[in-house]
Amino acid sequence: MKITQLFKGKKPLISFEVFPPKPDYPIETIYRTLDELRDLAPHFISVTYGAGGGNRRRTVEIASRIKNKQNIEALAHLTCISHSREEIDEISRRLLQEGIENILALRGDPPAGGPVKTDFTYARDLILHLRRMGTFCIGAAAYPEGRPENTDIAEEIRHMQEKVAAGADFFITQLVFINDHIYDFLEQLAKKGISSPVFIGVMPVYNSRQIWRITELSGAKIPRDFNSLLEKYADSPADAEKVGIDFAVRQIADLLAHEVDGIHLYTMNKARQAREILRRLGKTVSTLPAVARARE
Ligand code: FAD
Repeated sequence: MKITQLFKGKKPLISFEVFPPKPDYPIETIYRTLDELRDLAPHFISVTYGAGGGNRRRTVEIASRIKNKQNIEALAHLTCISHSREEIDEISRRLLQEGIENILALRGDPPAGGPVKTDFTYARDLILHLRRMGTFCIGAAAYPEGRPENTDIAEEIRHMQEKVAAGADFFITQLVFINDHIYDFLEQLAKKGISSPVFIGVMPVYNSRQIWRITELSGAKIPRDFNSLLEKYADSPADAEKVGIDFAVRQIADLLAHEVDGIHLYTMNKARQAREILRRLGKTVSTLPAVARARE
């Protein structure tokens, strides 16, 4: 089923993101996580696409398992930065063969070696190409706080308009910790006439140093009070995880109270923590299927 059709039911939607195991680990290492996430009845699970190249084939394989063995809708990420048109067509055909109808169309990060030759310069070019194939429901990335490559949010919104014009059906945001930044962003989108559903990307913190690395790369801002706690527990991952889960529960509850379209949980392949977050959300929002399942 297409994600746009899922929106015809009740919003908000709850989705999870997983990434394929590294090439030197068997692909089966993710199966148990997928089973545990499936038990939480998310509306869909997305699978990242390795920009480095090594585990790209695994994205299709894992998305197919989610869709065909676990009967959960799958969203396959796809980056175009170092692919030819023929390669994109081949991957798209494989996705269709596996019954996968949803693609998150991204440019991807340029490889360390510098610019590459590609048939698609920006995500919107990939979106246009996929739209011409006619069959996919297409998502795209959004950046409520800008990104290191471009901190001009107004310009980012113009690029989102181009993505919509090219055929994007919905957006998923980069991880954000400060909800006010999201609400400002959504207001600006509305002013610019962008009415496509927007999933808010929430990344629970499990480890201070890891999240500092990730926010440095993505440009996401961490609230000062929360960062002080992460500093306090920099050498104690168990405590950092506890305050990280507390923060995520409060953040998601506030987002749901503001009636966002969807929450996209960056699970980091950790199902136990995702369950704990949803279970604790049950105190405030018990009507969501994923929340009800986590409480069982
Ligand atoms: P674009 O929207 O094309 O933007 C790329 C750059 O070009 C930006 O600086 C933008 O401002 C600029 N730009 C865009 N359009 C134009 C235009 N018309 N003219 C001039 N400049 C323009 N990466 C992976 O490798 N694998 C993944 O699975 C993955 N999943 C992601 C999931 C989400 C939800 C998000 C938010 C990001 C994900 N990324 C992933 C990271 C993403 O690939 C990088 O952020 C990448 O650098 C940009 O991709 P994009 O699709 O946003 O590119």
